[in-house]
Amino acid sequence: MGLEIKENEILANHSTFRIGGPARYFIIVKSKGELMEAIEFAKESGLPFFVLGGGSNILFRDEGYDGIIIKIQNSELKIGNSGVEAGAGVPFGRLINFSIENGLAGLEWGTGIPGTVGGGVAGNCGAYGHSISEFVKSVIVLGENGEIKNYSADECGFVYRGSRFKNPDNREIILEVEFNLEKGDKGKSEKVIQKILEDRKSKIVPYPSTGSIFKNVIIDGLENKDEFLELVPREKIKGGKFPAAWLIENCGLKGKQIGGAKIAEEHCNFIINADVWRATSDNVLELIKLCKQKVREKFNIDLKEEIVIV
Ligand SMILES: Cc1cc2nc3c(=O)[nH]c(=O)nc-3n(C[C@H](O)[C@H](O)[C@H](O)COP(=O)(O)OP(=O)(O)OC[C@H]3O[C@@H](n4cnc5c(N)ncnc54)[C@H](O)[C@@H]3O)c2cc1C
Repeated sequence: MGLEIKENEILANHSTFRIGGPARYFIIVKSKGELMEAIEFAKESGLPFFVLGGGSNILFRDEGYDGIIIKIQNSELKIGNSGVEAGAGVPFGRLINFSIENGLAGLEWGTGIPGTVGGGVAGNCGAYGHSISEFVKSVIVLGENGEIKNYSADECGFVYRGSRFKNPDNREIILEVEFNLEKGDKGKSEKVIQKILEDRKSKIVPYPSTGSIFKNVIIDGLENKDEFLELVPREKIKGGKFPAAWLIENCGLKGKQIGGAKIAEEHCNFIINADVWRATSDNVLELIKLCKQKVREKFNIDLKEEIVIV
């Protein structure tokens, strides 16, 4: 086998949180063939596997992962019939730049979102009123039995910050994504990007994190909608969602620290690794528990994690 299989690789080095113990095995795959070899290795060893993109939406536990982490790094990018075709391992920022360089517009809103195309599609990442699902034409995946499948966007089960691929029971691995993009104007796109970069700069939390810990609250999905709307300022609702950050802040948790992990002062839906390399996954999990408990008590709302805990 030509694959490089590392043992006891420290996962903190593969997560933007900079938290996480060792993986029993860690394999970087750069092609469909390598991915198939890695899956074969998983089958032979009888160990579970977890698919990793950029590690920007994951909390790895300190005890590590007793299985195989397969990091997806296939990075082909090409112009397709309707826009761009990208390997799942392409960094999302590179996809945006490549599209603009080739006179295609649509993905500018994603500027500043870390991670890969595969991770972005699995989690249906979004910002500034858009989400990636609006631009997905089709997704090529490696199925559980080694078969290649091609899903249309409708078949991907996209929901707010999720898809069929983010479901832990789903064993399909995204290999490639075809995007629908419009003909654009490079100058205009660059201006939009500049604006977003400035806006994001003003919100930057200068510590390792995974971005938002919790999903915002979908108002229409609430059983106690009327009761909830009596308790919160309605003008905060955007796109039918109420910010989890406001709920956490209004439970008095801004700046709350447990061990090395802290609820960011700048944005209460961010937990930061404030004491870099000293925060533990338990510190973060305790803060998550505390946020859920306080928000439940005060607003009768069950916050749901956006991040994946491994
Ligand atoms: C500073 C900061 C800012 C952020 N801002 C935003 C934001 O504005 N909007 C937003 O939506 N998110 C944001 N995020 C969160 C994160 O960047 C996104 O969720 C990103 O799309 C995750 O991609 P990833 O490649 O890092 O995925 P990972 O964290 O590696 O994985 C996330 C999930 O996707 C799955 N996955 C990854 N690759 C594949 C694949 N090829 N096939 C199947 N499943 C796969 C994993 O198994 C896991 O379940 C932010 C994070 C940080 C640190």
